[in-house]
Amino acid sequence: MKLDQFGQNVLNILFPPVCLACKKRLETTEEKSTFICRLCRRQIRVNNGFYCPACGGRLYQAEKTCHSRAEFILAAVTSYEIKPVRELIQTLKYGGLTPSLKPWPGLIKEYLEKLPTFNMDPKNTVLVPIPIYKNKERQRGFNQGRLIAEVIATILAGKFERPQPLSIGNDCLVKIKPTASQTDCKDYKARTKNIAGSFGLKNPGSLKGKDVFLVDDVFTSGATMNEAARLLKEAGAHKIIGFVLTKA
Ligand SMILES: [Zn+2]
Ligand SMILES: [Zn+2]
Repeated sequence: MKLDQFGQNVLNILFPPVCLACKKRLETTEEKSTFICRLCRRQIRVNNGFYCPACGGRLYQAEKTCHSRAEFILAAVTSYEIKPVRELIQTLKYGGLTPSLKPWPGLIKEYLEKLPTFNMDPKNTVLVPIPIYKNKERQRGFNQGRLIAEVIATILAGKFERPQPLSIGNDCLVKIKPTASQTDCKDYKARTKNIAGSFGLKNPGSLKGKDVFLVDDVFTSGATMNEAARLLKEAGAHKIIGFVLTKA
């Protein structure tokens, strides 16, 4: 449903918009458009680099990692250690669709502007969201990875002066079996075991030679992204950037 301005104004009077992080009432136009208050926004430090997914070390270029077993380079907008960030991620996962995405385009844009230049051919790049199992997606009504990928695809188009958002491979990577929540697994080994064999590829030929942005909301142990990246590499993906909103 799309509300006209009058309807929106009535709603704002009945339910004044609050900060998604601290629940304080929002005052300025800027605050109301991003659904985050000035004080919370000020606490969110946006990163400016790439990271090695194996050790978390900062990388000064997006070409290779310090640990050669890593199949991808990690790009993370901000840190999960920051309290308002954790709140925003919770809202994104469980709080329903709108307006939980609203704070992110500004943060993602700032991050992409701060990153050192990296080689990327937008025509040869595809964004692949980490899939969730179809029953879970049906229950939740959406896959947050897919929504984040749409936001990034649009921002990257702006950065590379493309008229259309970059292409999104929504169905290249699919979740073929349900898994327990990764947060319920006690360590990296358990997480790796839990996720092993749970992804499949549809139409793998479409990934051959492509650069891939593998998109998720949070990077914790890396087990999920490692498993997904391994499959994409097998399908012939060239370079993979694991792009997440936050890392631990
Ligand atoms: Zn706040
Ligand atoms: Zn490393």
